[in-house]
Amino acid sequence: MTLANKTAIVTGSNSGIGLGVARELAKAGANVVLNSFTDREEDHALAAGIAEEFGVEARYIKADMSKGDECRQLIKDAGGCDILVNNAGIQHVAPIDQFPVDKWDAIIAINMNSVFHTTAAALPFMRERGWGRVVNIASAHGLTASPYKAAYIAAKHGVVGMSKTVALETAQEPITCNAICPGYVLTPLVEAQIPDTMKEYNMSRDEVVKNVMLTRQPSKEFATVEQLGGTTVFLCSDAAAQITGTTISVDGGWTAL
Ligand code: NAD
Repeated sequence: MTLANKTAIVTGSNSGIGLGVARELAKAGANVVLNSFTDREEDHALAAGIAEEFGVEARYIKADMSKGDECRQLIKDAGGCDILVNNAGIQHVAPIDQFPVDKWDAIIAINMNSVFHTTAAALPFMRERGWGRVVNIASAHGLTASPYKAAYIAAKHGVVGMSKTVALETAQEPITCNAICPGYVLTPLVEAQIPDTMKEYNMSRDEVVKNVMLTRQPSKEFATVEQLGGTTVFLCSDAAAQITGTTISVDGGWTAL
């Protein structure tokens, strides 16, 4: 399976799932554009490392996915793309009556509104190229809910809904749009939730991992960034050309419960 001569933009890809997805796309031959809101030497070094390891073109473009104009500018600065992976995301855990308004706004902007802006900006380039794949990294929380994550769950359900709409709008073109719904993956985003959840439930770290996080993941294993990258590569393959407007769960059985 080769994605040679395809260009993939992965939002929020200097860490965690985004970086894992970018690496798997590069391994499959795609040129990749990494992104986050910082502009550090190590961000650009990540792209250089991928270019060297996989023999593809890779660059890093700074753009803040909480800002609509920067989302659109990212696509333009990259010269468009064949593959758009909307991955940037943040989390905050609090009961809804104590949920800070600035956190609500940031989660809705980064996790959901950015998907609107990047997709709107990328589709004309895909149409021009006559091929396109939009892969939205949603969540098991795009299909189910948990307490204390109102903004995240609202945003991820929004992304799942938006993916279906984009799929219908592109159904008669060689463009697909789908959402991947991961269960828990041990990334910095998940690490950061552990202290708050320990406090919320009065539990140790191990208890949070076993009894809160993986309690709904029947496999009792975290999903890996490589598995999410592999699922993305599959959605970019010819075998997936008629897969559009749907969700693929990578959650160890969570949503089967
Ligand atoms: P992470 O914190 O490791 O990565 C998040 C990425 O988003 C980072 O690269 C970060 O720099 C970037 N980012 C944050 N704010 C940004 C902004 N304003 N502009 C641009 N980039 C920004 O987290 P992760 O676990 O790899 O999460 C990646 C995606 O996967 C998120 O959308 C998350 O909701 C989703 N997800 C994660 C899990 C999990 O268990 N880790 C499960 C389901 C879904």
